[in-house]
Amino acid sequence: MQISETTIRNVLTRTSGYLKTVTSHSLQPYRGCSFGGALCGVGCYVQHNGHVTRGREWGSFLEVRTNAAQSYADNYDREARWARKHRSRFSIFLSSATDPFVPQEFCYGITRAVLEAMLKQPPDLLILQTHSHRVAEYLPLLTRLNDVCKLRVHLTIETDRERIPGLPPHCSPIAKRFEACAELKAAGLWTVVAVSPLLPIAAPHEFFAKVAAVADAVILDHFIEGDGTATGQRTQRTALPDAMAAIDPCSVTLEYRSKMSRIAADYLPGRVGVNIDGFAGRFQ
Ligand code: SF4
Repeated sequence: MQISETTIRNVLTRTSGYLKTVTSHSLQPYRGCSFGGALCGVGCYVQHNGHVTRGREWGSFLEVRTNAAQSYADNYDREARWARKHRSRFSIFLSSATDPFVPQEFCYGITRAVLEAMLKQPPDLLILQTHSHRVAEYLPLLTRLNDVCKLRVHLTIETDRERIPGLPPHCSPIAKRFEACAELKAAGLWTVVAVSPLLPIAAPHEFFAKVAAVADAVILDHFIEGDGTATGQRTQRTALPDAMAAIDPCSVTLEYRSKMSRIAADYLPGRVGVNIDGFAGRFQ
């Protein structure tokens, strides 16, 4: 893993494409992701973004944006004004191209510094999305943030299987992610489990019953329609679909998403969001 330090002029990126309907801005405290070599990195769509990778292998590099908090503060007024005028509210997705709680966060504290800056200059809505159970270590800070802005924490739990044969292990154990969700929800935070991308689930009824116990809502995001292409083209170029099909051939079709949505709705009525609707907070 190559780790380097860098600075950025404006850490607040105005969203485009599919994310535009979710938040006005995205914020990446790091460039690259040290979870890229884990299971989630196999199908991760960011690996196809040459602007980010610059030819480097996904998961092999992490650029630490040491001035991210200062950049947030410096650009806050202009970006908040722009968002409230053009996008109705100033809302931030943290993060869409890295994970805010990569292991290096607990040494560099870039995400922590950004969240602290938000206490002084809050957005209208913050969506904090991570694959890591370690988000719960920031609970006191998140609780304070929840008092000054609308905060939604998305914890990604793609399946109930700790291992998918042929693929690397998860970056964070599933059991620990469930525990983290329970902790966040118990503290009064709006907690959402993002089943993204939806992987074959061994015991769907038990899985969604567990989700219902620890989260306010669930997002079901299949790689088809969910990876930025209508047919899941980007993901089809990776090892993920074959590994999924080897467990359950139906899991690589949208029929699987419908089937899982119906089961999820039994346990979370009115609290199931499908693909982009879920990320945007539109649940049914
Ligand atoms: S944590 Fe997110 S950004 Fe990082 S490799 Fe996994 S899916 Fe990609």
